[in-house]
Amino acid sequence: MQSKSLDIENIDICLNKAINVVEEYIKNISNEPVIPNIKREELYDIISSQMPLDGIGVENVIDDVKKNIVPYCTKIGNPKFLSWIITSPSPAGTIGEILNIGLNQVPFCFKSGPAATVIEETVISWFADMFGYNDKSGGILVSGGSTGTLTALSVAREAHLPGSMKKGLQGANKPLVVYTSSVSHKSIDTAVSVLGIGSNFIRKIPVDSNFKMDINKLKKQVEEDRKLGYDPFCVVAQAGTSNEGAVDNIDGIADFCNEQNIWLHIDAAYAGGAILTERGKKLMKGIEKADSISTDPHKWFFIPVEVGCVLIKDREHLYNTYRVSDKEYDADDPIEYMNYGIQFTRMSRAFKIWFAFRAYGINKLSEIIDQNLDLSQEFTDLIDKSDKWELLCPTQTSAVCFRYVPNSECSDRQLNEVQSNIVKELELSGKAFLSQAVVNGKVAIRACFSNHRTSYEDLDFVFNTLSEIAETTSYHLINNKGA
Ligand SMILES: *Cc1c(COP(=O)(O)O)cnc(C)c1O
Repeated sequence: MQSKSLDIENIDICLNKAINVVEEYIKNISNEPVIPNIKREELYDIISSQMPLDGIGVENVIDDVKKNIVPYCTKIGNPKFLSWIITSPSPAGTIGEILNIGLNQVPFCFKSGPAATVIEETVISWFADMFGYNDKSGGILVSGGSTGTLTALSVAREAHLPGSMKKGLQGANKPLVVYTSSVSHKSIDTAVSVLGIGSNFIRKIPVDSNFKMDINKLKKQVEEDRKLGYDPFCVVAQAGTSNEGAVDNIDGIADFCNEQNIWLHIDAAYAGGAILTERGKKLMKGIEKADSISTDPHKWFFIPVEVGCVLIKDREHLYNTYRVSDKEYDADDPIEYMNYGIQFTRMSRAFKIWFAFRAYGINKLSEIIDQNLDLSQEFTDLIDKSDKWELLCPTQTSAVCFRYVPNSECSDRQLNEVQSNIVKELELSGKAFLSQAVVNGKVAIRACFSNHRTSYEDLDFVFNTLSEIAETTSYHLINNKGA
């Protein structure tokens, strides 16, 4: 009897057709619209279908993808996509990922992916190097910054209360407290909640005028908490807040944490890439003193989603938190990733990084990130020089937060509405895509220059388009003087 399998006869034709779709997509990435103008209901009609009991074959599905999926994709790689901090993937990163998917390695142990295991070790050592960690350090690649911080904080908890992975917090005699700035990322709250500490036990320390955590207030809060019988165990400092791109005074915070025996984790999910530039290194001075760092290769390192990188300064703590092996930690033991993280079956997230970094070289990436920093400064200058626009925070990395002020008599409420309208109109035009953020309680337009394709021409185009839209959407405010 003929046995069955899912193999297909014309795999060569199918693969080529699929690759052609990707090729066309990347070639057309700079074309408008950046955001497809489509309603969810329309997409249900186009895409949703009954569960397919009988197949139509690979080639037909690829044709359907070309016709009905590609037009409704958000062009994240478009040079005028300057929103949030999901960045344009580099073509080499995409090619690396395509190869990776084809090879389908599962590096939870050496045998399930010998090359993939060594590639991951290699990539982790590159990131460790970038951030100034030595070979006592270790880490693992995870889905992103959120899981990275969760992983790091679980390690911090186990290092602080050995055995807590087994006992939970049931035996702790003092409530654990975590410190972070008032503008830090929501994923920190989630991590602290998931770890059973409870997000009520996060102290949100106020920031200074540069959106950096106020160290004196941190020190006071820790002192007060100790007096009240709490157990201050971890500080999470930001290397790039998602809205403002602000970098905390890591050096100062690290010295304080060291002296107080408090674990310091750095959330460098967004701005980690800046470590490849002189300006970034200066901003993140002292980062190598931190106990752990999470950074997102799928953000400012131009790697396609998903991949986050968590680094632990002392690998032993990571092993002690996640080991499935009975064996005590031995630095000389070869790394089996099942002892280093939450997942067992896992994709090789290292492959696409290894591929892209080798294809371009770190120097090239560093030049691109430097260019991004220049573009954000240039855009900041344009805003600063114009009397219709104002900056809402100093530009430290690649995010510029600003707003349109048609006349000096507008209330903050009117201004908030104006900014929302501008962002909405720009999105509808399909010409560029920027996001909206709240900075100091004010609605800001936020342009994030972390896209490897954005040029100075694109920057001028975006500024001019914004100015046109701003004038038309708020002309009643200009003419009626805010009435
Ligand atoms: C994006 C981001 C995160 C979350 O990372 P994900 O990869 O989206 O899970 C955490 N912190 C900051 C500052 C971020 O910008």
